[in-house]
Amino acid sequence: MSESQACIGLGANLGDVRAVLAAAYAQVRQLPGTRYHRCSPWFTSAPIDSSGPDYLNAVACFDTTLSPQALLEALQGIERCHARERPYRNAPRTLDLDLLLYGDQQIATSTLTVPHPRMHERAFVLLPLAALLPTVVIPGLGPVSTLLSSVAGQSVWRAG
Ligand code: ADP
Ligand code: MG
Repeated sequence: MSESQACIGLGANLGDVRAVLAAAYAQVRQLPGTRYHRCSPWFTSAPIDSSGPDYLNAVACFDTTLSPQALLEALQGIERCHARERPYRNAPRTLDLDLLLYGDQQIATSTLTVPHPRMHERAFVLLPLAALLPTVVIPGLGPVSTLLSSVAGQSVWRAG
């Protein structure tokens, strides 16, 4: 079965964010058909178009035989474990797991857009991604290093 490199974004801003992120990443590592897991350093960011406490964010990569849709559903299952609710758009959330990249594929279905449609606007995604994969190219958008320069004004810092 063919294997692709997937990158996901992890974010939390409610509750014990360190515990939530650590538990979610442990669950990601347990997903079937995934291996060679690695995770970026953790970053803190102020909410954008959102409210509530600061976010804790990270990006994780792994090789997987799961299809993009199966991986999305697995990530949503982990979100549900952490009692994610969606009362309104951009509401504070205990846990947000996004599928950022799936190999070099560009996907647009009713439930899944890859690369994630807003990742290139978000320093809290690009900084951890660049820390993990400094030379990665976002399909259709360009190298992560180039994209980073356009989000330089956003307040994101390495979590202490
Ligand atoms: P965001 O992560 O942009 O703040 P949500 O997590 O609330 O927003 O959005 C979840 C919805 O986005 C889901 O219904 C899912 O089907 C859809 N979606 C589309 N593309 C992706 C993707 N690449 N990763 C995660 N969810 C996606
Ligand atoms: Mg999401």
